[in-house]
Amino acid sequence: MERHPRGDGGGPQPSRLGLDLAKAGPVMKTYQMYINGHFVDSSDGEIIPVENPASEEPFAEVPAATVEDVDRAVQAAREAFDNGPWSRMSQKERITKLMALVDAMKAKETELYSIESEHSGIPIRKTTLMDIPIGIEMFRTMVEQSDFPLYEPLPWTDFPKISWNFVQREPIGVCAGISAWNFPWLFTMWKSAPALAMGNTLVFKPASYTPLTALEFAKIVDECDFPPGVVNVITGSGSTVGAELCTHPLVDKVSFTGSTEVGQEVQRMAAGTLKRLTLELGGKSANIVLDDAYLDLSAEAALFACFFNAGQSCEAGTRLLVQDGIYDEFMATMLEKAKTITVGDPADFETTMGPLISQSQRTMVESYIQSAHDEGAALLFGGGRTAGMQHGYYIDPTVFANVTPEMRIFKEEIFGPVLAVTRFKTNDEAIALANDSMYGLGGGIWTRDLQKGIEMAKAVRTGTVWVNDYHLLNANAPFGGYKMSGTGHEMSTYALKEYTEMKHIHVDLVGDKRDDKFWMDYSVNRE
Ligand code: NAD
Repeated sequence: MERHPRGDGGGPQPSRLGLDLAKAGPVMKTYQMYINGHFVDSSDGEIIPVENPASEEPFAEVPAATVEDVDRAVQAAREAFDNGPWSRMSQKERITKLMALVDAMKAKETELYSIESEHSGIPIRKTTLMDIPIGIEMFRTMVEQSDFPLYEPLPWTDFPKISWNFVQREPIGVCAGISAWNFPWLFTMWKSAPALAMGNTLVFKPASYTPLTALEFAKIVDECDFPPGVVNVITGSGSTVGAELCTHPLVDKVSFTGSTEVGQEVQRMAAGTLKRLTLELGGKSANIVLDDAYLDLSAEAALFACFFNAGQSCEAGTRLLVQDGIYDEFMATMLEKAKTITVGDPADFETTMGPLISQSQRTMVESYIQSAHDEGAALLFGGGRTAGMQHGYYIDPTVFANVTPEMRIFKEEIFGPVLAVTRFKTNDEAIALANDSMYGLGGGIWTRDLQKGIEMAKAVRTGTVWVNDYHLLNANAPFGGYKMSGTGHEMSTYALKEYTEMKHIHVDLVGDKRDDKFWMDYSVNRE
Protein backbone atom coordinates (compact mmCIF):
# COMPACT_ATOMS: atom_id res chain seq x y z
CA MET A 1 0.00 0.00 0.00
CA GLU A 2 1.27 3.46 -0.84
CA ARG A 3 2.16 5.49 2.20
CA HIS A 4 -0.07 8.53 2.59
CA PRO A 5 1.71 11.87 2.89
CA ARG A 6 0.07 12.53 6.23
CA GLY A 7 1.36 13.47 9.64
CA ASP A 8 4.56 15.36 9.18
CA GLY A 9 5.07 14.11 5.65
CA GLY A 10 2.72 16.56 4.01
CA GLY A 11 2.19 18.94 6.90
CA PRO A 12 3.30 22.52 7.31
CA GLN A 13 6.89 22.85 8.47
CA PRO A 14 8.04 24.99 11.42
CA SER A 15 9.97 28.19 10.79
CA ARG A 16 11.42 30.98 12.92
CA LEU A 17 8.95 33.36 14.54
CA GLY A 18 7.85 36.11 12.16
CA LEU A 19 9.73 34.77 9.13
CA ASP A 20 6.65 34.69 6.92
CA LEU A 21 5.07 37.93 8.11
CA ALA A 22 6.17 40.03 5.15
CA LYS A 23 4.82 37.50 2.65
CA ALA A 24 1.53 37.06 4.45
CA GLY A 25 0.79 40.76 4.91
CA PRO A 26 -0.93 42.55 7.74
CA VAL A 27 -3.81 40.11 8.25
CA MET A 28 -1.57 37.42 9.76
CA LYS A 29 -3.09 36.23 13.03
CA THR A 30 -0.76 35.06 15.79
CA TYR A 31 -1.80 32.43 18.28
CA GLN A 32 -0.22 31.07 21.44
CA MET A 33 -0.54 27.67 23.13
CA TYR A 34 -2.36 27.20 26.41
CA ILE A 35 -0.33 25.53 29.18
CA ASN A 36 -1.17 25.53 32.88
CA GLY A 37 -3.62 28.42 32.50
CA HIS A 38 -1.21 30.66 30.53
CA PHE A 39 -0.91 31.54 26.85
CA VAL A 40 2.68 30.90 25.78
CA ASP A 41 4.96 30.70 22.74
CA SER A 42 7.08 27.66 22.05
CA SER A 43 10.24 27.53 24.18
CA ASP A 44 12.48 27.96 21.11
CA GLY A 45 10.32 30.51 19.28
CA GLU A 46 9.53 28.21 16.35
CA ILE A 47 6.19 28.71 14.64
CA ILE A 48 4.04 26.80 12.15
CA PRO A 49 2.31 28.82 9.42
CA VAL A 50 -1.36 28.02 8.87
CA GLU A 51 -2.52 28.15 5.28
CA ASN A 52 -5.96 28.78 3.83
CA PRO A 53 -6.40 25.82 1.42
CA ALA A 54 -8.67 27.91 -0.80
CA SER A 55 -6.12 30.70 -1.37
CA GLU A 56 -2.89 28.75 -0.69
CA GLU A 57 -1.82 31.73 1.45
CA PRO A 58 -0.69 31.55 5.08
CA PHE A 59 -2.93 33.71 7.24
CA ALA A 60 -2.03 32.67 10.79
CA GLU A 61 0.82 31.19 12.78
CA VAL A 62 0.89 28.97 15.83
CA PRO A 63 3.76 27.83 18.06
CA ALA A 64 5.67 24.66 17.18
CA ALA A 65 5.93 23.08 20.61
CA THR A 66 9.20 21.46 21.66
CA VAL A 67 9.57 18.29 23.73
CA GLU A 68 10.11 20.59 26.76
CA ASP A 69 6.81 22.35 26.05
CA VAL A 70 5.01 19.01 25.87
CA ASP A 71 6.57 18.04 29.19
CA ARG A 72 5.43 21.31 30.78
CA ALA A 73 1.87 20.71 29.57
CA VAL A 74 1.85 17.10 30.78
CA GLN A 75 3.36 18.07 34.17
CA ALA A 76 0.68 20.77 34.54
CA ALA A 77 -2.08 18.27 33.73
CA ARG A 78 -0.53 15.74 36.13
CA GLU A 79 -0.33 18.25 38.98
CA ALA A 80 -3.91 19.40 38.30
CA PHE A 81 -5.08 15.80 38.37
CA ASP A 82 -3.10 14.61 41.41
CA ASN A 83 -3.43 17.67 43.64
CA GLY A 84 -6.04 19.97 42.13
CA PRO A 85 -9.80 20.12 42.70
CA TRP A 86 -10.99 18.85 39.29
CA SER A 87 -10.70 15.08 39.83
CA ARG A 88 -12.07 15.40 43.38
CA MET A 89 -15.10 17.57 42.84
CA SER A 90 -18.54 16.01 42.69
CA GLN A 91 -20.04 15.13 39.32
CA LYS A 92 -22.66 17.83 39.84
CA GLU A 93 -20.00 20.51 40.39
CA ARG A 94 -18.07 19.41 37.29
CA ILE A 95 -21.21 19.37 35.19
CA THR A 96 -22.09 22.89 36.35
CA LYS A 97 -18.63 24.12 35.38
CA LEU A 98 -18.77 22.39 31.98
CA MET A 99 -22.25 23.74 31.28
CA ALA A 100 -20.91 27.25 31.90
CA LEU A 101 -18.27 26.42 29.28
CA VAL A 102 -21.03 25.34 26.88
CA ASP A 103 -22.76 28.70 27.39
CA ALA A 104 -19.48 30.53 26.76
CA MET A 105 -18.92 28.52 23.56
CA LYS A 106 -22.45 29.32 22.40
CA ALA A 107 -21.77 33.02 23.00
CA LYS A 108 -18.66 32.83 20.77
CA GLU A 109 -20.20 30.50 18.19
CA THR A 110 -20.52 32.97 15.33
CA GLU A 111 -16.83 33.96 15.55
CA LEU A 112 -15.85 30.33 15.04
CA TYR A 113 -17.71 29.80 11.74
CA SER A 114 -15.20 31.64 9.57
CA ILE A 115 -12.07 30.57 11.49
CA GLU A 116 -13.07 26.92 11.08
CA SER A 117 -13.73 27.47 7.39
CA GLU A 118 -10.51 29.40 6.76
CA HIS A 119 -8.03 26.87 8.11
CA SER A 120 -9.81 23.73 6.85
CA GLY A 121 -11.41 24.75 3.54
CA ILE A 122 -14.77 23.50 4.86
CA PRO A 123 -17.52 25.64 3.28
CA ILE A 124 -18.83 28.34 5.61
CA ARG A 125 -22.31 27.02 4.96
CA LYS A 126 -21.33 23.78 6.65
CA THR A 127 -19.33 25.29 9.53
CA THR A 128 -22.29 27.61 10.25
CA LEU A 129 -25.05 25.03 10.00
CA MET A 130 -23.23 21.94 11.20
CA ASP A 131 -19.66 21.73 12.47
CA ILE A 132 -19.65 24.48 15.08
CA PRO A 133 -23.22 24.37 16.48
CA ILE A 134 -23.52 20.59 16.30
CA GLY A 135 -20.07 20.21 17.90
CA ILE A 136 -21.15 22.37 20.85
CA GLU A 137 -24.41 20.43 21.17
CA MET A 138 -22.48 17.15 21.17
CA PHE A 139 -20.26 18.52 23.94
CA ARG A 140 -23.38 19.49 25.89
CA THR A 141 -24.99 16.08 25.40
CA MET A 142 -21.87 14.24 26.56
CA VAL A 143 -21.65 16.43 29.68
CA GLU A 144 -25.33 15.74 30.42
CA GLN A 145 -24.77 12.01 29.89
CA SER A 146 -21.93 12.00 32.41
CA ASP A 147 -24.50 12.26 35.18
CA PHE A 148 -24.66 8.47 35.68
CA PRO A 149 -23.88 6.54 38.87
CA LEU A 150 -20.17 5.97 39.29
CA TYR A 151 -21.07 3.33 41.87
CA GLU A 152 -22.42 0.05 40.48
CA PRO A 153 -23.45 -2.62 43.02
CA LEU A 154 -22.54 -6.22 42.16
CA PRO A 155 -24.91 -9.14 42.84
CA TRP A 156 -24.91 -10.80 46.24
CA THR A 157 -23.73 -14.37 45.83
CA ASP A 158 -23.28 -17.49 47.95
CA PHE A 159 -19.55 -17.06 47.73
CA PRO A 160 -17.89 -14.93 48.94
CA LYS A 161 -20.39 -14.80 51.79
CA ILE A 162 -21.48 -11.69 53.58
CA SER A 163 -19.45 -9.22 51.70
CA TRP A 164 -20.51 -6.13 49.87
CA ASN A 165 -19.03 -5.85 46.38
CA PHE A 166 -19.29 -2.91 44.08
CA VAL A 167 -17.59 -1.25 41.14
CA GLN A 168 -16.47 2.32 41.49
CA ARG A 169 -15.61 4.25 38.33
CA GLU A 170 -12.75 6.72 38.70
CA PRO A 171 -11.04 9.09 36.28
CA ILE A 172 -8.00 7.64 34.50
CA GLY A 173 -5.70 10.64 34.97
CA VAL A 174 -3.94 12.67 32.31
CA CYS A 175 -5.58 12.19 28.90
CA ALA A 176 -3.90 13.24 25.67
CA GLY A 177 -6.07 14.00 22.65
CA ILE A 178 -4.42 13.94 19.22
CA SER A 179 -6.62 14.71 16.24
CA ALA A 180 -6.91 14.90 12.47
CA TRP A 181 -7.62 17.97 10.32
CA ASN A 182 -10.88 17.04 8.65
CA PHE A 183 -13.34 18.12 11.39
CA PRO A 184 -11.14 20.25 13.67
CA TRP A 185 -13.80 21.73 15.98
CA LEU A 186 -15.81 18.54 16.18
CA PHE A 187 -12.75 16.58 17.31
CA THR A 188 -11.91 19.24 19.89
CA MET A 189 -15.40 18.68 21.31
CA TRP A 190 -15.24 14.87 21.07
CA LYS A 191 -11.89 14.60 22.84
CA SER A 192 -12.44 17.23 25.52
CA ALA A 193 -16.03 16.58 26.69
CA PRO A 194 -15.72 12.96 27.87
CA ALA A 195 -12.21 13.41 29.29
CA LEU A 196 -13.19 16.45 31.36
CA ALA A 197 -16.67 15.27 32.31
CA MET A 198 -15.25 12.11 33.88
CA GLY A 199 -12.76 14.10 35.98
CA ASN A 200 -9.60 13.70 33.93
CA THR A 201 -7.22 16.45 32.90
CA LEU A 202 -6.42 17.05 29.24
CA VAL A 203 -3.55 17.85 26.91
CA PHE A 204 -4.97 18.33 23.43
CA LYS A 205 -2.94 18.49 20.22
CA PRO A 206 -4.86 19.48 17.08
CA ALA A 207 -3.55 18.70 13.58
CA SER A 208 -0.96 21.19 12.31
CA TYR A 209 -3.06 22.12 9.28
CA THR A 210 -6.04 23.12 11.42
CA PRO A 211 -4.97 24.21 14.92
CA LEU A 212 -6.94 27.46 15.24
CA THR A 213 -10.36 26.49 16.60
CA ALA A 214 -8.72 24.32 19.28
CA LEU A 215 -6.75 27.41 20.35
CA GLU A 216 -10.00 29.42 20.29
CA PHE A 217 -11.44 26.71 22.56
CA ALA A 218 -8.51 27.32 24.94
CA LYS A 219 -9.37 31.04 25.03
CA ILE A 220 -12.97 30.24 25.98
CA VAL A 221 -11.80 27.78 28.66
CA ASP A 222 -9.55 30.51 30.03
CA GLU A 223 -12.48 32.92 30.31
CA CYS A 224 -14.41 30.30 32.28
CA ASP A 225 -11.80 30.22 35.01
CA PHE A 226 -10.97 26.50 35.09
CA PRO A 227 -8.30 25.37 37.58
CA PRO A 228 -4.88 25.72 35.89
CA GLY A 229 -3.63 22.61 34.12
CA VAL A 230 -7.05 20.99 33.67
CA VAL A 231 -7.11 21.94 29.98
CA ASN A 232 -3.92 22.42 27.96
CA VAL A 233 -3.82 22.92 24.19
CA ILE A 234 -0.45 22.55 22.46
CA THR A 235 0.40 22.79 18.78
CA GLY A 236 3.17 21.20 16.77
CA SER A 237 4.20 18.32 14.61
CA GLY A 238 3.07 14.75 15.08
CA SER A 239 6.63 13.43 15.18
CA THR A 240 7.61 15.73 18.06
CA VAL A 241 4.48 16.64 20.00
CA GLY A 242 2.31 13.64 19.12
CA ALA A 243 5.08 11.11 19.71
CA GLU A 244 6.07 12.71 23.02
CA LEU A 245 2.46 12.51 24.24
CA CYS A 246 2.31 8.83 23.26
CA THR A 247 5.48 7.94 25.18
CA HIS A 248 5.38 10.34 28.13
CA PRO A 249 5.23 8.27 31.35
CA LEU A 250 2.84 10.72 33.04
CA VAL A 251 0.17 10.41 30.32
CA ASP A 252 -2.41 7.73 31.20
CA LYS A 253 -4.60 7.66 28.10
CA VAL A 254 -4.26 8.67 24.47
CA SER A 255 -7.30 9.30 22.33
CA PHE A 256 -6.11 9.47 18.74
CA THR A 257 -7.98 10.31 15.55
CA GLY A 258 -6.00 9.92 12.35
CA SER A 259 -4.74 7.50 9.75
CA THR A 260 -4.41 3.78 10.37
CA GLU A 261 -0.66 3.92 9.68
CA VAL A 262 -0.03 6.54 12.37
CA GLY A 263 -2.57 4.84 14.67
CA GLN A 264 -0.49 1.67 14.53
CA GLU A 265 2.58 3.70 15.45
CA VAL A 266 0.65 5.32 18.33
CA GLN A 267 -0.28 1.87 19.62
CA ARG A 268 3.36 0.74 19.46
CA MET A 269 4.55 3.87 21.27
CA ALA A 270 1.84 3.70 23.93
CA ALA A 271 2.67 0.05 24.63
CA GLY A 272 5.81 1.12 26.49
CA THR A 273 3.70 2.44 29.37
CA LEU A 274 0.50 0.51 28.57
CA LYS A 275 -1.57 3.65 28.12
CA ARG A 276 -5.31 3.29 27.66
CA LEU A 277 -6.09 3.90 24.00
CA THR A 278 -8.91 5.11 21.83
CA LEU A 279 -7.95 4.84 18.16
CA GLU A 280 -10.30 6.33 15.57
CA LEU A 281 -8.68 5.47 12.25
CA GLY A 282 -9.27 5.17 8.53
CA GLY A 283 -12.15 3.69 6.59
CA LYS A 284 -13.36 2.49 3.19
CA SER A 285 -17.05 2.15 3.81
CA ALA A 286 -19.58 0.54 1.50
CA ASN A 287 -22.88 2.19 0.66
CA ILE A 288 -25.27 -0.50 -0.64
CA VAL A 289 -28.22 0.38 -2.89
CA LEU A 290 -30.74 -2.45 -3.28
CA ASP A 291 -33.21 -2.81 -6.14
CA ASP A 292 -36.10 -1.65 -3.93
CA ALA A 293 -34.39 1.57 -2.77
CA TYR A 294 -36.15 4.94 -3.09
CA LEU A 295 -34.48 6.00 -6.34
CA ASP A 296 -34.23 9.76 -5.98
CA LEU A 297 -33.29 9.77 -2.31
CA SER A 298 -30.66 7.04 -2.56
CA ALA A 299 -29.07 8.65 -5.64
CA GLU A 300 -28.73 11.96 -3.83
CA ALA A 301 -27.53 10.23 -0.67
CA ALA A 302 -24.84 8.30 -2.55
CA LEU A 303 -23.28 11.64 -3.53
CA PHE A 304 -23.67 12.99 0.01
CA ALA A 305 -22.17 9.81 1.49
CA CYS A 306 -19.00 10.20 -0.57
CA PHE A 307 -18.56 13.92 -1.32
CA PHE A 308 -19.54 15.39 2.06
CA ASN A 309 -16.51 17.37 3.27
CA ALA A 310 -14.90 16.87 -0.17
CA GLY A 311 -14.57 13.17 0.55
CA GLN A 312 -12.39 13.88 3.56
CA SER A 313 -14.41 12.06 6.15
CA CYS A 314 -13.37 8.78 7.70
CA GLU A 315 -16.79 7.12 7.46
CA ALA A 316 -17.43 8.31 3.87
CA GLY A 317 -19.34 5.88 1.65
CA THR A 318 -16.58 5.72 -0.93
CA ARG A 319 -17.52 2.30 -2.27
CA LEU A 320 -20.96 2.43 -3.83
CA LEU A 321 -22.45 -1.03 -4.41
CA VAL A 322 -25.50 -0.94 -6.68
CA GLN A 323 -27.81 -3.88 -7.44
CA ASP A 324 -28.36 -5.01 -11.01
CA GLY A 325 -32.09 -4.26 -11.29
CA ILE A 326 -31.83 -0.58 -10.38
CA TYR A 327 -28.31 0.05 -11.69
CA ASP A 328 -28.95 1.89 -14.99
CA GLU A 329 -31.73 4.15 -13.72
CA PHE A 330 -29.89 4.82 -10.47
CA MET A 331 -26.61 5.77 -12.16
CA ALA A 332 -28.35 8.09 -14.62
CA THR A 333 -30.17 9.83 -11.76
CA MET A 334 -27.06 10.09 -9.60
CA LEU A 335 -24.89 11.50 -12.40
CA GLU A 336 -27.55 14.09 -13.21
CA LYS A 337 -27.62 15.16 -9.56
CA ALA A 338 -23.81 15.29 -9.40
CA LYS A 339 -23.94 18.31 -11.73
CA THR A 340 -25.61 20.32 -8.95
CA ILE A 341 -22.70 20.01 -6.50
CA THR A 342 -21.28 23.52 -6.15
CA VAL A 343 -17.50 23.35 -5.92
CA GLY A 344 -15.91 26.66 -5.04
CA ASP A 345 -14.77 29.24 -2.54
CA PRO A 346 -15.58 28.01 0.99
CA ALA A 347 -16.29 31.62 2.06
CA ASP A 348 -19.29 31.70 -0.31
CA PHE A 349 -22.47 30.51 1.42
CA GLU A 350 -23.65 28.82 -1.80
CA THR A 351 -20.59 26.55 -1.99
CA THR A 352 -21.29 22.95 -1.03
CA MET A 353 -17.83 21.49 -1.68
CA GLY A 354 -14.56 23.26 -0.93
CA PRO A 355 -10.91 22.46 -1.67
CA LEU A 356 -8.88 19.61 -0.21
CA ILE A 357 -6.74 20.41 2.78
CA SER A 358 -3.35 20.63 1.07
CA GLN A 359 -1.25 20.29 -2.02
CA SER A 360 0.08 16.91 -0.88
CA GLN A 361 -3.47 15.64 -0.26
CA ARG A 362 -4.49 16.69 -3.78
CA THR A 363 -1.41 15.05 -5.29
CA MET A 364 -2.30 11.83 -3.50
CA VAL A 365 -5.92 11.95 -4.69
CA GLU A 366 -4.70 12.55 -8.25
CA SER A 367 -2.45 9.52 -8.01
CA TYR A 368 -5.49 7.41 -7.06
CA ILE A 369 -7.44 8.80 -10.02
CA GLN A 370 -4.53 7.81 -12.26
CA SER A 371 -4.45 4.32 -10.72
CA ALA A 372 -8.17 3.90 -11.48
CA HIS A 373 -7.53 4.73 -15.14
CA ASP A 374 -4.52 2.40 -15.24
CA GLU A 375 -6.47 -0.47 -13.69
CA GLY A 376 -9.38 -0.17 -16.13
CA ALA A 377 -12.16 1.57 -14.19
CA ALA A 378 -14.54 3.74 -16.24
CA LEU A 379 -14.57 7.46 -15.48
CA LEU A 380 -18.17 8.75 -15.50
CA PHE A 381 -17.83 12.14 -13.84
CA GLY A 382 -15.14 14.68 -12.89
CA GLY A 383 -11.66 13.23 -12.73
CA GLY A 384 -9.53 16.37 -12.47
CA ARG A 385 -8.95 19.79 -11.02
CA THR A 386 -11.89 22.19 -10.89
CA ALA A 387 -12.01 24.52 -13.88
CA GLY A 388 -11.70 28.24 -13.20
CA MET A 389 -10.11 27.96 -9.75
CA GLN A 390 -6.71 29.67 -10.03
CA HIS A 391 -5.81 28.98 -6.41
CA GLY A 392 -6.80 26.34 -3.94
CA TYR A 393 -6.50 22.56 -3.83
CA TYR A 394 -9.69 21.79 -5.72
CA ILE A 395 -10.64 18.47 -7.27
CA ASP A 396 -14.00 17.84 -8.91
CA PRO A 397 -16.30 15.20 -7.51
CA THR A 398 -15.20 12.11 -9.39
CA VAL A 399 -17.12 8.91 -10.16
CA PHE A 400 -15.59 5.69 -11.47
CA ALA A 401 -17.71 2.65 -12.47
CA ASN A 402 -16.74 -0.98 -13.24
CA VAL A 403 -14.59 -0.98 -10.12
CA THR A 404 -13.46 -4.45 -9.02
CA PRO A 405 -12.16 -5.61 -5.62
CA GLU A 406 -8.58 -5.88 -6.89
CA MET A 407 -8.36 -2.20 -7.77
CA ARG A 408 -6.62 0.23 -5.44
CA ILE A 409 -9.59 2.61 -5.39
CA PHE A 410 -11.74 -0.25 -4.06
CA LYS A 411 -9.27 -1.23 -1.34
CA GLU A 412 -7.45 1.87 -0.13
CA GLU A 413 -8.68 4.94 1.68
CA ILE A 414 -8.29 7.91 -0.67
CA PHE A 415 -9.60 10.68 1.59
CA GLY A 416 -10.76 12.77 -1.32
CA PRO A 417 -13.82 13.08 -3.59
CA VAL A 418 -13.52 9.81 -5.52
CA LEU A 419 -16.48 7.42 -5.66
CA ALA A 420 -15.87 3.80 -6.71
CA VAL A 421 -19.00 2.08 -8.09
CA THR A 422 -19.38 -1.70 -8.22
CA ARG A 423 -22.41 -3.61 -9.54
CA PHE A 424 -23.76 -6.70 -7.75
CA LYS A 425 -26.54 -9.27 -8.16
CA THR A 426 -27.48 -10.76 -4.76
CA ASN A 427 -27.67 -9.43 -1.22
CA ASP A 428 -25.07 -11.98 -0.11
CA GLU A 429 -22.73 -10.74 -2.82
CA ALA A 430 -23.21 -7.16 -1.55
CA ILE A 431 -22.35 -8.17 2.01
CA ALA A 432 -19.27 -10.07 0.83
CA LEU A 433 -18.11 -7.03 -1.16
CA ALA A 434 -18.79 -4.68 1.76
CA ASN A 435 -16.79 -6.89 4.13
CA ASP A 436 -13.93 -7.30 1.67
CA SER A 437 -11.93 -4.60 3.43
CA MET A 438 -9.28 -4.28 6.12
CA TYR A 439 -11.35 -1.38 7.47
CA GLY A 440 -14.64 -1.48 9.37
CA LEU A 441 -15.91 1.99 10.13
CA GLY A 442 -19.26 2.82 8.48
CA GLY A 443 -21.70 1.90 5.76
CA GLY A 444 -25.20 2.33 4.41
CA ILE A 445 -28.08 0.16 3.16
CA TRP A 446 -30.83 1.64 0.97
CA THR A 447 -34.06 -0.36 0.81
CA ARG A 448 -37.77 0.09 1.43
CA ASP A 449 -37.77 -3.16 3.42
CA LEU A 450 -36.55 -2.12 6.86
CA GLN A 451 -36.42 -5.69 8.15
CA LYS A 452 -34.08 -6.64 5.31
CA GLY A 453 -32.10 -3.43 5.90
CA ILE A 454 -31.54 -4.32 9.55
CA GLU A 455 -30.58 -7.90 8.71
CA MET A 456 -28.01 -6.68 6.21
CA ALA A 457 -26.76 -3.99 8.60
CA LYS A 458 -26.04 -6.73 11.14
CA ALA A 459 -24.02 -8.65 8.56
CA VAL A 460 -21.76 -5.71 7.70
CA ARG A 461 -18.62 -5.80 9.89
CA THR A 462 -18.36 -2.11 10.80
CA GLY A 463 -18.95 0.08 13.84
CA THR A 464 -21.83 2.11 12.34
CA VAL A 465 -24.37 1.24 9.64
CA TRP A 466 -27.11 3.57 8.50
CA VAL A 467 -30.31 2.19 6.96
CA ASN A 468 -31.71 4.80 4.55
CA ASP A 469 -29.40 7.53 5.81
CA TYR A 470 -25.71 8.40 6.00
CA HIS A 471 -23.17 10.37 8.07
CA LEU A 472 -25.72 11.35 10.71
CA LEU A 473 -23.87 11.03 14.01
CA ASN A 474 -25.65 11.16 17.28
CA ALA A 475 -23.99 12.01 20.59
CA ASN A 476 -26.16 9.37 22.28
CA ALA A 477 -24.69 6.62 20.08
CA PRO A 478 -21.16 5.19 20.13
CA PHE A 479 -18.93 5.87 17.12
CA GLY A 480 -15.96 3.59 16.55
CA GLY A 481 -14.34 1.11 14.22
CA TYR A 482 -14.02 -2.64 13.70
CA LYS A 483 -10.84 -4.19 12.30
CA MET A 484 -8.19 -1.66 11.23
CA SER A 485 -10.54 1.28 11.67
CA GLY A 486 -9.58 1.36 15.32
CA THR A 487 -10.55 0.51 18.83
CA GLY A 488 -12.68 2.33 21.41
CA HIS A 489 -15.42 4.86 20.84
CA GLU A 490 -16.31 8.51 20.68
CA MET A 491 -19.53 9.91 22.18
CA SER A 492 -22.30 8.36 24.30
CA THR A 493 -22.04 6.80 27.75
CA TYR A 494 -19.96 4.01 26.19
CA ALA A 495 -17.22 6.54 25.36
CA LEU A 496 -17.57 8.30 28.72
CA LYS A 497 -16.91 5.01 30.47
CA GLU A 498 -13.76 4.57 28.37
CA TYR A 499 -12.43 7.65 30.18
CA THR A 500 -12.69 5.86 33.54
CA GLU A 501 -10.86 3.12 35.37
CA MET A 502 -13.10 0.47 36.92
CA LYS A 503 -12.27 -0.42 40.51
CA HIS A 504 -13.78 -3.38 42.32
CA ILE A 505 -14.19 -2.73 46.05
CA HIS A 506 -14.87 -5.70 48.32
CA VAL A 507 -16.10 -4.88 51.83
CA ASP A 508 -16.14 -7.79 54.25
CA LEU A 509 -19.16 -7.73 56.58
CA VAL A 510 -18.45 -10.64 58.96
CA GLY A 511 -16.67 -8.57 61.59
CA ASP A 512 -13.94 -10.50 63.48
CA LYS A 513 -15.27 -14.01 62.73
CA ARG A 514 -11.87 -15.33 61.69
CA ASP A 515 -13.05 -18.93 61.36
CA ASP A 516 -15.31 -18.06 58.46
CA LYS A 517 -12.33 -16.98 56.41
CA PHE A 518 -11.04 -20.40 55.31
CA TRP A 519 -9.23 -18.77 52.39
CA MET A 520 -6.80 -17.16 54.82
CA ASP A 521 -5.39 -20.60 55.75
CA TYR A 522 -2.74 -20.03 53.14
CA SER A 523 -0.73 -17.67 55.32
CA VAL A 524 -1.57 -18.80 58.86
CA ASN A 525 -0.28 -21.77 60.91
CA ARG A 526 -3.34 -23.56 62.13
CA GLU A 527 -3.58 -26.48 64.54
P1 NAD B 1 -2.57 11.58 10.50
O1 NAD B 1 -2.55 10.20 11.05
O2 NAD B 1 -1.52 11.97 9.57
O3 NAD B 1 -2.49 12.66 11.69
C1 NAD B 1 -3.40 12.65 12.76
C2 NAD B 1 -2.75 13.33 13.95
O4 NAD B 1 -1.63 12.56 14.39
C3 NAD B 1 -2.20 14.73 13.68
O5 NAD B 1 -2.45 15.56 14.78
C4 NAD B 1 -0.72 14.48 13.50
O6 NAD B 1 0.08 15.61 13.81
C5 NAD B 1 -0.49 13.37 14.52
N1 NAD B 1 0.69 12.54 14.25
C6 NAD B 1 1.36 12.35 13.08
N2 NAD B 1 2.41 11.54 13.28
C7 NAD B 1 2.40 11.19 14.59
C8 NAD B 1 3.23 10.36 15.39
N3 NAD B 1 4.29 9.73 14.90
N4 NAD B 1 2.92 10.22 16.70
C9 NAD B 1 1.84 10.81 17.22
N5 NAD B 1 1.03 11.64 16.52
C10 NAD B 1 1.31 11.81 15.21
O7 NAD B 1 -4.05 11.74 9.91
P2 NAD B 1 -4.65 12.98 9.09
O8 NAD B 1 -4.07 12.98 7.73
O9 NAD B 1 -4.55 14.19 9.94
O10 NAD B 1 -6.20 12.57 9.02
C11 NAD B 1 -6.73 11.75 8.06
C12 NAD B 1 -6.92 10.34 8.58
O11 NAD B 1 -7.68 10.38 9.78
C13 NAD B 1 -7.71 9.46 7.64
O12 NAD B 1 -7.12 8.20 7.58
C14 NAD B 1 -9.08 9.37 8.28
O13 NAD B 1 -9.82 8.24 7.94
C15 NAD B 1 -8.72 9.41 9.72
N6 NAD B 1 -9.86 9.86 10.51
C16 NAD B 1 -10.52 8.94 11.30
C17 NAD B 1 -11.63 9.32 12.01
C18 NAD B 1 -12.39 8.35 12.88
O14 NAD B 1 -13.14 8.79 13.75
N7 NAD B 1 -12.25 7.05 12.67
C19 NAD B 1 -12.08 10.64 11.94
C20 NAD B 1 -11.39 11.52 11.13
C21 NAD B 1 -10.27 11.13 10.43
